[in-house]
Amino acid sequence: MSNDFFPETGSTDDQAILRDLAGLHADDLTSDGHAFAFIYDAGSAVNDLARKAFAAGMSGNGLDPTVYPSARRLENDLVSACLNHLGAPEGAVGTATSGGTESVILSVKTARDYARKTRPEVTTPNMLVPETAHASFQKAAHYLGVELKLVDVDPETMRASVSDTRSKLDDNTILIVASAPSYAHGVIDPIAELGEFAKESGVLLHVDACIGGWVLPFQRENGVELPAFDFAVEGVTSMSVDLHKYGFTPKGISVLLQRTSELRESQYYSCATWSGYSIVNPTIQGSKSLAPMAAAWAVLQRLGRRGYRELADTMWKATQKLVSGIREIDGLKVLGEPKMGLMAVTTTGGDIFELADRLTAAGWHVQPTYAYGNSPAHIHLTVDPGNSGRVGELLEDLRAQARNLPESEDAPKPVVQLLEALAQGGSSSGVDVGNMMAEFGIRDGKMPEQQATIHRMLNSVSPEAREKLLVLFLGEMFS
Ligand SMILES: *Cc1c(COP(=O)(O)O)cnc(C)c1O
Repeated sequence: MSNDFFPETGSTDDQAILRDLAGLHADDLTSDGHAFAFIYDAGSAVNDLARKAFAAGMSGNGLDPTVYPSARRLENDLVSACLNHLGAPEGAVGTATSGGTESVILSVKTARDYARKTRPEVTTPNMLVPETAHASFQKAAHYLGVELKLVDVDPETMRASVSDTRSKLDDNTILIVASAPSYAHGVIDPIAELGEFAKESGVLLHVDACIGGWVLPFQRENGVELPAFDFAVEGVTSMSVDLHKYGFTPKGISVLLQRTSELRESQYYSCATWSGYSIVNPTIQGSKSLAPMAAAWAVLQRLGRRGYRELADTMWKATQKLVSGIREIDGLKVLGEPKMGLMAVTTTGGDIFELADRLTAAGWHVQPTYAYGNSPAHIHLTVDPGNSGRVGELLEDLRAQARNLPESEDAPKPVVQLLEALAQGGSSSGVDVGNMMAEFGIRDGKMPEQQATIHRMLNSVSPEAREKLLVLFLGEMFS
């Protein structure tokens, strides 16, 4: 493999190196107000401070808080801010993790190991996960050997069905999951009811507030009515909240909260049976950068409660305008009742992927999403402070581009069959994946402007085939 970026003799021209690096980032998605996915941005003043704090935290290592006392202080401060924010009772504790996925995996590990301790008769544990809950729960089930039972959602509200949860619970159930809110639709599951049921069943309940846990309480302080979703619900035993989303801090920081320290003992991992230093790790990581924690610590202080409240207000107003505006557009529909700036927009017949292409051509960045279960193919929109001011413009373009959409249709059958076969055979099927991707306009890892054909194909194949095709695609990107 050619490796010309790594020279035999190093260069001392730092400026040139940094210039080249900046060049690499030139095509990356940025926050100019046109991105309605991926970006959570509170503006350059906050980002400038975050960058400096990130650099300041860079040399520490959270692996050993006795050697780096700052690790303990930063984490305790962030965790207690989150505990206070989410109504945690006396005795509740938490941990800083690297992101939502890690928090989620650890919430499942906690449930698994707590059941091993307190319910040894359970040998094949399962967990009940709404089909709208983040995929990281399915990843956790896969990694940790916990059986996954998907729970239905109501096709109108997109909220987890309590009756389906009741009917799927059995003697081996160790965990129920709910979202506050779900990423795709921005709706909050019936957490009060699920909490009551979890409590009477003696099962743990994790509320995934990765995306909403930071902003929802500020919305409530602003007078927005919200259902109960946090530790105020007695049956809730753990919660996850990502600061690197609506806390507007750099990537690499989420917080996992546990109702009791006894629960958290099942989250920790310790090992004294090797010849190196004895390990006690609260998370999956060993060496743990303090940079994301330091940046979060700085950003929370800079914005303060009032700063976040004001940003929450800006976003909620933009969200209401967007939702009601879309509902007035012929042929478009918002699924369920979004409780914050996350929504799924679908059509009443027109091709959603064609609409996504038209929005891209008009300069917007949106997230086309495939159908699964009761959720149809849709365009996901995320509102943040950086794009709130452009909601009016986006509505105008949505109105214009939703006109004369072709009818939505599946990819041609022979194509679907071919892709299913390729997925089955994997890299041994003899198909040159790189060539195939080039045929569809994917070159040098870059997607073409027009993606409707690709999305229609992926939306038409089975989820199993889609999973395998994505693996082949990613492998090709990194070869
Ligand atoms: C983003 C998200 C996650 C996963 O978080 P990462 O930080 O991307 O690992 C989990 N749950 C919800 C609801 C999310 O929005």
